[in-house]
Amino acid sequence: MNHISKNIKVESISSRCNLPVHVDVFRMDEVHPLISGNKWFKLKQYLVEAEQFDKKVIVTFGGPYSNHIIATAAAGKELGIKTAGVIRGEQPATPSHTLKNAELFQMKLFFTSREHYKMKTIPQQLLEMYASDQLYIIPEGGYGQQGMAGIREVYNLYNLQKYDYILCAVGTGTTLAGLIAAAPPNQKLIGISVFKNNFSLEQQVEILLGGHNNNFQIIHDFHFGGYAKYNEELISFMNDYYNKTSIPSDFVYTGKLFFAVDQLIKLKFFPKSSSILILHSGGLQGNDSLRKGTLIFR
Ligand SMILES: *Cc1c(COP(=O)(O)O)cnc(C)c1O
Repeated sequence: MNHISKNIKVESISSRCNLPVHVDVFRMDEVHPLISGNKWFKLKQYLVEAEQFDKKVIVTFGGPYSNHIIATAAAGKELGIKTAGVIRGEQPATPSHTLKNAELFQMKLFFTSREHYKMKTIPQQLLEMYASDQLYIIPEGGYGQQGMAGIREVYNLYNLQKYDYILCAVGTGTTLAGLIAAAPPNQKLIGISVFKNNFSLEQQVEILLGGHNNNFQIIHDFHFGGYAKYNEELISFMNDYYNKTSIPSDFVYTGKLFFAVDQLIKLKFFPKSSSILILHSGGLQGNDSLRKGTLIFR
């Protein structure tokens, strides 16, 4: 699946947006329509390991709109490995587009109560079908060393060290940790949290890194009310941004990221003549849950 990484390009948006600093966008979103952006890179090492250990089924966890679930299903299909998704909450009467697509990729879905989901219990039904040592478990959101290593690899592939700042959206912090692990000491990594007041994220990142690190900062001011919450201001920003740059974004992660960078530039957060890279981590499939016409793009 190495062919996949070749689609990524880096685009400058400084002149299109008339910006006083140099801003490039790393278009990880163009990697694959469903194995979107950072999810593919976070999955890669896990998939290699599952094959190495000759596991029969990959099991992972996510909500009904999860980018990680759909990416795992699509990757499993492409590699010919069986996948199972443990989904948070009861089975809905009408499944989300994400779950429908996951099933098209032959992922077997197991719906679990929120309590069981919290404990990451492996469904009994799955344990009746396979011996537990035949299962390969990928943590929710791909959080872990293998996920971090996959991001580190892309960093090196694309020589991202030339930027003064790299910004990314933060869910589990795995992507941010991978960037920090690869970065030279003079580069600043800035994560934009998509959660409301999740102040354990910094620690979650440092656990992956294996120690304290001063090169990064997580900003908690751009969550728009919390995970997957949005308002008119965010949607119209995303539409404007698309008009100016032809870059689509998603309302859960990258819309908030682009909004944050726009605000930070206005607030003169970045010194003059800084060069900045925004990591577009994909996730566009999530926009399918919005009412048609909300966004002028997908
Ligand atoms: C999952 C996801 C993230 C968050 O990545 P983490 O490594 O979990 O912090 C960011 N952007 C998009 C589009 C995602 O799907």
